[in-house]
Amino acid sequence: MTKILRPDAVVIGAGPAGLGAALAAREAGLEEIFLLERDFELGGILPQCIHDGFGSIVFDQVLTGPEYAQRFIDKVERSGIEVFLDTMVLELRSDRSLVAVNSRDGVLRMEPGAVVLAMGCRERTRHQVLIPGYRPAGVICAGAAQRYINIEGLMPGRRVVILGSGDIGLIMARRFTLEGAEVEGVYEIMDHPGGLTRNLVQCLHDFDIPLHLSHTVTFIHGRKRVEAVTVAKVNENRKPIPGTERLVECDTLVLSVGLIPENELSKKAGVVLHPATGGPVVDELMETSVEGIFACGNVVCVFDLVDYVTFTAEVAGRGAAEFVQGRRRWRGEVPVRPGRNVRFVVPQRLRCLDREVELYFRVQRPERSVRVRVLVDGRVVHSRKARMVRPPEMVRASIPAGALNEGVREVVVEVTPDEKEA
Ligand SMILES: Cc1cc2nc3c(=O)[nH]c(=O)nc-3n(C[C@H](O)[C@H](O)[C@H](O)COP(=O)(O)OP(=O)(O)OC[C@H]3O[C@@H](n4cnc5c(N)ncnc54)[C@H](O)[C@@H]3O)c2cc1C
Repeated sequence: MTKILRPDAVVIGAGPAGLGAALAAREAGLEEIFLLERDFELGGILPQCIHDGFGSIVFDQVLTGPEYAQRFIDKVERSGIEVFLDTMVLELRSDRSLVAVNSRDGVLRMEPGAVVLAMGCRERTRHQVLIPGYRPAGVICAGAAQRYINIEGLMPGRRVVILGSGDIGLIMARRFTLEGAEVEGVYEIMDHPGGLTRNLVQCLHDFDIPLHLSHTVTFIHGRKRVEAVTVAKVNENRKPIPGTERLVECDTLVLSVGLIPENELSKKAGVVLHPATGGPVVDELMETSVEGIFACGNVVCVFDLVDYVTFTAEVAGRGAAEFVQGRRRWRGEVPVRPGRNVRFVVPQRLRCLDREVELYFRVQRPERSVRVRVLVDGRVVHSRKARMVRPPEMVRASIPAGALNEGVREVVVEVTPDEKEA
């Protein structure tokens, strides 16, 4: 029978979330920590992100993805954390027992004191956005195209149309251009861009790549290889407007149509997911609905900046240590509700009520000259001015230490017009 391993904690996934969580758990005193990664190297998605823009908050520096990852990898290598590469976790149960497999050890069974979920997210594919047409070669997700170019040294196409203006789509528009391809344009179904402002400027404007808002691809032409796509303008319900179709010749359609938190393992373990984020409902320690299972990074919700991924990882790692050491105590249950112009907030509930809490949220619509406010039972505990809020850019707010206690009923996060400006 396979021997059962019983480390203090297992971290699943070794992207920036997993690396940060494992290190924080270690620093908080856990002895035996296993970091399980299905890829052949550490770093998650970061090794293929060779552009800069990472770490401006954590390190106050502008780093590339590999540079950012390396700072944590170096620490992990010195820390005594046991790393399992090429190791896929196949199953996780609600009692935290799990099964993993690799070619060196075969099947591994583990019963850790705590588990941290750090599996990141996956890309939405053509089948999830239902584009009619044939199934030729040349339809590719943006992250996969990035991997081909930056890791494998392969060029997926020469004449490119990009659907979706999220950050990955914008970065790939620039990357294809730098590699000598012609990027005909980026088409975005919404009436506002999906990516960060800095990426719009640096990846599209600086390279004269057109962005077509309120547009989508309605048909893919070509039997063996993409030959063209039909694009059309959409109405306010995002439906194509007849008569606005245009044929665009291309050999590659790059999809940047969203990311989905990778929660197949979480679901099997009975972890409750939130409908707006697609990730686990978590509290201020990033503990999920299943005791002793914590989560951080993009598995919880899609973060725009890696820095926030690292912050949630540190909280989850420390939380896992508190749990294993028997120090984690719940004092109540306080919901954190999205108020005016807020789509979702992470964490969604608070249970320890004894510390400062960092909140991350996205707005529903762009708005200028606003105030970001956090209210505890109607009392404002955080209020700050923001010049602009936009759905692609995550917003941070905090609840100060001492603002919570057992008697609190709810916390509300809201974005309101800044009255002094009006
Ligand atoms: C193209 C692109 C450009 C970006 N640009 C920027 C930028 O300029 N600035 C910035 O701050 N952020 C940027 N980001 C965002 C940033 O990279 C992510 O927020 C961050 O990598 C998420 O970290 P993570 O650890 O949650 O997930 P990931 O990095 O995706 O890591 C998850 C890891 O879990 C592993 N895993 C999953 N399932 C299992 C399993 N069952 N068993 C074992 N291992 C498993 C995966 O193999 C992976 O290594 C970019 C992201 C992309 C994709």
